[in-house]
Amino acid sequence: MIKITEKSECCGCNACVQRCPKQCISMKEDEQGFLYPFVDTTSCIDCGLCEKVCPILNPFDTKEPLQVLAAKNKNEDQRLKSSSGGTFILLAEHIIKQGGVVFGARFDTNWEVEHCYAETIEELEPLMRSKYVQSKIGNTYKEAEQFLKDGRLVMFVGTSCQIAGLKRFLRKEYDNLLAVDFICHGVPSPGIWRKYLEEIKSSRSEAAGKNTVLSLSLKSVPVITGINFREKQQGGYGWKKYGFVVQAKSPSKGDKNSVLLSSIFNENIFMKGFLANLYLRPSCYKCKAKNGSANSDITIADFWGIQKSHPEFDDDKGVSVVFIHTCKGKGIIKELSSRLDLIDSNLKEATLPNPVYFRSCQEPKKYSLFWNIYKKTKSVHEAVNAATKLTFIDVIKIFLRRFYNKLRRTFKMVN
Ligand SMILES: Cc1cc2nc3c(=O)[nH]c(=O)nc-3n(C[C@H](O)[C@H](O)[C@H](O)COP(=O)(O)OP(=O)(O)OC[C@H]3O[C@@H](n4cnc5c(N)ncnc54)[C@H](O)[C@@H]3O)c2cc1C
Ligand code: SF4
Ligand code: SF4
Ligand code: SF4
Repeated sequence: MIKITEKSECCGCNACVQRCPKQCISMKEDEQGFLYPFVDTTSCIDCGLCEKVCPILNPFDTKEPLQVLAAKNKNEDQRLKSSSGGTFILLAEHIIKQGGVVFGARFDTNWEVEHCYAETIEELEPLMRSKYVQSKIGNTYKEAEQFLKDGRLVMFVGTSCQIAGLKRFLRKEYDNLLAVDFICHGVPSPGIWRKYLEEIKSSRSEAAGKNTVLSLSLKSVPVITGINFREKQQGGYGWKKYGFVVQAKSPSKGDKNSVLLSSIFNENIFMKGFLANLYLRPSCYKCKAKNGSANSDITIADFWGIQKSHPEFDDDKGVSVVFIHTCKGKGIIKELSSRLDLIDSNLKEATLPNPVYFRSCQEPKKYSLFWNIYKKTKSVHEAVNAATKLTFIDVIKIFLRRFYNKLRRTFKMVN
């Protein structure tokens, strides 16, 4: 029976919950805002299935990709609406056009993130773009299994551990399944995300700052109408700056959609805390699904560093890196090759600027500081500000590191 003694030993994939024949496992949110499984021992028959399907207890082997490509969707509108090079939407449309089903993550009515499936082209739009919050998998492995058994084509997109969880849950290979993961930095806490949204809505701090276009009063709490973690067009952010935009309707301003918040990653509190690794799931610091061990057919990601390795390919509208792991993956990319601009790359070139392909993010030194302040103040803004504030010692360290790097470069040039 599943028993979580170390938080880092559960990625929250929900495989155990969905496989239990007695439905005696339920997910409960912990004080950090992540879901963990709990077994009702009175109903458990000790069959051991939950342990068999757990991707943390049964990790897959790492493997080298068959091929690595830089890719851009030729449909510029789709590429601009996607996080990276728009590879997901091309794959997804291809599956739907063949009568298939596509699983991915969307915002629910409370702007929390959940997995779901699409059967039409129109239903794909909410699945597009990265949502930097852990998604609730719900019963989607079970639903996917039923579609697979019915002989439908299924594409399932998720974090590497969600794909490993799906593969363990299914316990057999299906020819009609295309499993797609992405290079995964780690997933932020849904609890912190919920609190952050409350704060920007009630204008507690950042929403009252210089990036707020909408002036808010506590009496007229705005209704969020759209969130984009990777806005490329509005604000002229382009691909590399991670434009984060929240749209809202303000009851006091009529029914008009306005921009509640719009900023680049290093000016936005939630993105700052995410990229400083302050509230990733504990399993993300010890990830067991890196380096091809998700057992996916294809891994998609941002091709960071393309401006250096292939500058002619970069227009700051987004480039994907596509790691092909199986013949099935190779086949589908070949079928789509007329709709993609492609160039050959290799593992080293594609991962040098994206090392989380191989290894987990480190738990930051200020991890405990963040959580202690958050527990006391219940303010995401205060806790992130405190944990990302540079001390005098930090500034000296940065100066010395830069000076040392400059010296090294000069020394290399002289030699
Ligand atoms: C939490 C997270 C961390 C990431 N970390 C990195 C990284 O370190 N380096 C890197 O190069 N790329 C990372 N990515 C992937 C990257 O942001 C793009 O999603 C990827 O390049 C695909 O882009 P696209 O243009 O092809 O398609 P998009 O249209 O952007 O498609 C995104 C796909 O991801 C799915 N998805 C979105 N949010 C979630 C979620 N929360 N959980 C599960 N699935 C989701 C969508 O349903 C869709 O299928 C991360 C993505 C997420 C969600
Ligand atoms: S051992 Fe079997 S019955 Fe018990 S929790 Fe696990 S899957 Fe459910
Ligand atoms: S990793 Fe997944 S299968 Fe394993 S205990 Fe956690 S939720 Fe269950
Ligand atoms: S870093 Fe690893 S454990 Fe964390 S969400 Fe991504 S794949 Fe899962």
